[in-house]
Amino acid sequence: MSVPSKRRPRSEAGGRAFHLRLKKRMLIACSHCKKEIPTHRVCPFCGYYKGREVIHIKLKKEKGKKHKEKADQNEKVPAKENKPEKKSKEKK
Ligand SMILES: [Zn+2]
Repeated sequence: MSVPSKRRPRSEAGGRAFHLRLKKRMLIACSHCKKEIPTHRVCPFCGYYKGREVIHIKLKKEKGKKHKEKADQNEKVPAKENKPEKKSKEKK
């Protein structure tokens, strides 16, 4: 039988709620990159699990290069367009 909450002391209710708390996750050091990762999970930083590469993860450097290349292309296009216009004005 359930007991109304007002009939139960706070300590008793708290004791029951103690088991519903958030528990700390178990973390271990990755065998490849030594960063802290949850147990039984592929490392999100290097993609290794149990000493072998399971997922190929792109490094931040690789991602950065692509953005720079795109930025360079965008800069080059308007520069070429501007140069002929200036020459045409000079000729006139
Ligand atoms: Zn790792």
